[in-house]
Amino acid sequence: MTRDKSLRRKCLCIGTGGTIASEVTRGGLAPTRTDLFFRRIRQHPSLTSPSEFTDSSVSFDSPVHTTLVGRNTLFPALITPDLDDEGRSVEYEILDLDRHMDSSEMTPSEWNTIASLVYENWDAYDGFVILSGTDTLAYTAAILSFLFHSAGKPIVVTGAQIPLSRPRSDGWTNLLDSLFVAGVLPYAGVGIVFNHQVLHGSRATKTSPNLFAAFTSPCVPALINLNVKITLDTALPLRSTTPPPPLIHLHSDPTVVAVHIYPGMTGSLLEAQVDAVPTCRAIILSAYGSGNLPLDEKNGMLVSLKRLVEREVLVVVISQCAIPNVYPLYAQGRTLLSIGVLPGYDLTHEAAFAKLIWLVSQPKLTFKEKQELFETPVVGEMSVDSGV
Ligand code: ASP
Repeated sequence: MTRDKSLRRKCLCIGTGGTIASEVTRGGLAPTRTDLFFRRIRQHPSLTSPSEFTDSSVSFDSPVHTTLVGRNTLFPALITPDLDDEGRSVEYEILDLDRHMDSSEMTPSEWNTIASLVYENWDAYDGFVILSGTDTLAYTAAILSFLFHSAGKPIVVTGAQIPLSRPRSDGWTNLLDSLFVAGVLPYAGVGIVFNHQVLHGSRATKTSPNLFAAFTSPCVPALINLNVKITLDTALPLRSTTPPPPLIHLHSDPTVVAVHIYPGMTGSLLEAQVDAVPTCRAIILSAYGSGNLPLDEKNGMLVSLKRLVEREVLVVVISQCAIPNVYPLYAQGRTLLSIGVLPGYDLTHEAAFAKLIWLVSQPKLTFKEKQELFETPVVGEMSVDSGV
């Protein structure tokens, strides 16, 4: 029986490494860059249509004919079995970055590479899946949310807690769900697909290296729950022909310095950290509770912060709390606002970091415009709340 191709969407999966693509090596699990990952996927009946599989008599050991695209490797297209009762399926290609990495090695340069690949291939695919390690997956999702804000196709970031090469891997489900979201569902935007949920791309954080539910979005519910029934946020944007905004090239020098406030923190400790990074253009202060930090005269913090804002460094306060929410409730918070320090409301660290890199990488914006844009939600990354 021939399958209705009009019900088939095309997705591009960009492989970056991480646990999902890891193999057992003598030195422990490592995201080795071989075709084993593709061979495993090609064999899986939920990820490869049985008809396509038997028709071409492909086995695990069959040769894989790859194409070099620049320095990256493109694997042959695979087609899923039907993913819904209407017979929708997904044709997908895996484009492996020339360097597979543990996601703790990710930098803004890798984000530039991933973003350029999505951007260059925008017209050729209906959706995109980024396969990543989980450690910095939430940062990658957050930066893609800003770079592709308002664009009319889905970009999904996923990974696994157990490699596809190991028993009980959660990667199979995460990959299948990702293809379903990127290729079948009618929604657009950046999301993290993990453990049968789609979380808002700029709202999530990794909360467990052990649980299959590795990510949570502490301040907003999941966008989509992929249970027996699919339940979702009805305000989700639909796919559209809206192209991505012009691609912003992120600075690859360190531009954002993250400072954790702790008992005994002083202005000179803060300045020592910032002075060590001559290219610093923004600071994230992870403060206590609703945005408090020591500000009495003798610890010098206020003077240091004033000096930094005068040097046109964006200074942002977020909360160390697991469920963050910064608002100028206490006198300290109001003092900070009065010197030009910006409240991060309920931003996660990942989203604050991504938003700041995105802002400081836009040379046409003045300092004032960057400050204003920081306080304006761009992709639903925060709820602006006066708290009073
Ligand atoms: N260290 C791994 C990584 O982030 C962890 C994982 O993928 O789960 O690449």
